[in-house]
Amino acid sequence: MVDCIFCDIVSKRIPAKKIYEDEKVMAFLDINPRNPGHTLVIPKKHIESIMDADDSDIGYLFQIVKRVATAVMSGIDADGISISQSNGKAAGQVIPHIHFHIIPRFETEGPVGLEDYLPIKKLDKESMNKIANNIKNNLSKIRESSSEKEKEKEDKPSTKEKRIETDEFEELDFDI
Ligand code: AMP
Ligand code: ZN
Repeated sequence: MVDCIFCDIVSKRIPAKKIYEDEKVMAFLDINPRNPGHTLVIPKKHIESIMDADDSDIGYLFQIVKRVATAVMSGIDADGISISQSNGKAAGQVIPHIHFHIIPRFETEGPVGLEDYLPIKKLDKESMNKIANNIKNNLSKIRESSSEKEKEKEDKPSTKEKRIETDEFEELDFDI
């Protein structure tokens, strides 16, 4: 079993101010709010980073992030919302269980932008081209491997399909 504070919150071993829960996702108030209403949205499954997650898990998780962000915005009467999510220690991830920070923002507060904590680095045209090409090449490899995974899933008959193959003499019911 993993030693993880967020897994302990999911299994109710430690308490949290819960905002939302369904079969796959949970949202609760951050114990050290950067602004009132600072909420964390997590998958219930222990997944360390976005890169370790299945596309479908991330798709659903982000739907809930959007929903909770909308509710935080109106619930707190905020002027804006920052959504922040870190992967790996170098990026500032302290708890190695995916979490999205939903942070209400106000026009009255000070510096607001990314450049306030990550200063701009000037890169020449050649470096920018090289970087863009490296990322694009990797992106096409990732696309190929995820479409291969999808193909494998399609090729594997589902439980219902298997039942149709094996129980061909039984009366079959179909979902319409
Ligand atoms: P990060 O630095 O992105 O890994 O964020 C971890 C966040 O988890 C921090 O903002 C902490 O304040 C928050 N946190 C840590 N323990 C708890 C807890 N028991 N309940 C709610 N939030 C927590
Ligand atoms: Zn965990």
